[in-house]
Amino acid sequence: MVLKGIVRCSWRAQSTSTQLDSASQRDHSGTGFCFELTEQQKEFQATARKFARDEIIPVAAQYDKTGEYPVPLIKRAWELGLMNSHIPESCGGLGLSTFDSCLITEEIAYGCTGIQTAIEANSLGQMPVIIAGNEKQQKKYLGRMTEEPLMCAYCVTEPGAGSDVAGLKTRAEKKGDEYILNGQKMWITNGGKANWYFLLARTNPDPKASAGKAFTGFIVEADTPGIQIGRKELNMGQRCSDTRGITFEDVRVPAENVLIAEGAGFKIAMGAFDKTRPPVAAGAVGLAQRALDEATKYALERKTFGKPIAEHQVVSFMLAEMAMKVEIARMAYQRSAWEIDVGRRNTYYASIAKAYAGDIANQNAADAVQIFGGNGFNSEYPVEKLMRDAKIYQIYEGTAQIQRLVIAREHFAKFKV
Ligand SMILES: Cc1cc2nc3c(=O)[nH]c(=O)nc-3n(C[C@H](O)[C@H](O)[C@H](O)COP(=O)(O)OP(=O)(O)OC[C@H]3O[C@@H](n4cnc5c(N)ncnc54)[C@H](O)[C@@H]3O)c2cc1C
Repeated sequence: MVLKGIVRCSWRAQSTSTQLDSASQRDHSGTGFCFELTEQQKEFQATARKFARDEIIPVAAQYDKTGEYPVPLIKRAWELGLMNSHIPESCGGLGLSTFDSCLITEEIAYGCTGIQTAIEANSLGQMPVIIAGNEKQQKKYLGRMTEEPLMCAYCVTEPGAGSDVAGLKTRAEKKGDEYILNGQKMWITNGGKANWYFLLARTNPDPKASAGKAFTGFIVEADTPGIQIGRKELNMGQRCSDTRGITFEDVRVPAENVLIAEGAGFKIAMGAFDKTRPPVAAGAVGLAQRALDEATKYALERKTFGKPIAEHQVVSFMLAEMAMKVEIARMAYQRSAWEIDVGRRNTYYASIAKAYAGDIANQNAADAVQIFGGNGFNSEYPVEKLMRDAKIYQIYEGTAQIQRLVIAREHFAKFKV
């Protein structure tokens, strides 16, 4: 595993590292302000970049066309250590920070966000277990993912409830030392590929019970009898990612698979977003950077009225705007990741990063199509895929509107003290 090697070497190198490196290490622990990545972070980034450019980009269009799940690429990412990077060392993982994981995510997304979403959905499924699992649950369910390239999924959304999580209808009833699950989930990434699910269900039948007490988080083995996996959804973009509805009918889950305790589920499910929204934003930045790079290369080559279109001021200003957006969105995701890594509540920053990066990914992809002219509208060129792929960043893990609700709530809270 390449990343494991980097982590080991870096520990050895730390005693002889340059002043800049040790300064930036210190700064990452929260005592200063520095934009320089550590040598180790640069190596993570370079490994992911090489994988994306050499192995993902050449096959991304084909996976988009067929919608086939990218098994060989997932296996390769797993071998390189580019998947599951935040699984704690106690479970056999690398235990990387959110910041470091984001650097990897941005690079993979540059190659193809469909593949990045398939990989990132593992982080989303694992995160409730990382933040709320006991030692036995973590060793069993996270540990097995370090032994072979397995997938997991986060099962919260239902046909009738997405943004309004408190409206979930899936029920879990306790019978002896088991819970019986009944309900339907929708839009589950890795739904048909997962080895296990994190699932949120209502355990308090009282409709007046507050969300903070009514729901429980479970780990559910995907091969449990009573689970029916729906067809792969045909989505606008990120087509090689596997999105499905899943039905749970009298599915028996041992009580030992409850995370923390009955009633704790809503907080766990929502708390996971503080750690997963920064990487989602990083993915959107990867796409926005790709749109900028593709549009720039094209603008420098394509000539109209006797000169490259990059020399027409309107086009150059479009590219300048795209560059501004990428730089600002990158800083936003890095700030949000850094905040959680130094142990501070980052809900406000995570929503800002996710909302802004999601929006600018869409703007940059649309502008790249515009700069390509007629070619931009055609699937022989890479930018129409970027435009289709970008849309989901304004929808999943909290829509653009829900992020603004969170930001406004957090903002106003500062004035109420
Ligand atoms: C490809 C894909 C992958 C996904 N992966 C997963 C997954 O792995 N696991 C999972 O659990 N879910 C997943 N989802 C579900 C996703 O998180 C939801 O689709 C999303 O949260 C929105 O919910 P909804 O579709 O029910 O829309 P709704 O909640 O019905 O919202 C519809 C519209 O109304 C707006 N809106 C809703 N409420 C408000 C409000 N209070 N104020 C202002 N505007 C509002 C929304 O912003 C949106 O524009 C995925 C979805 C897709 C499409």
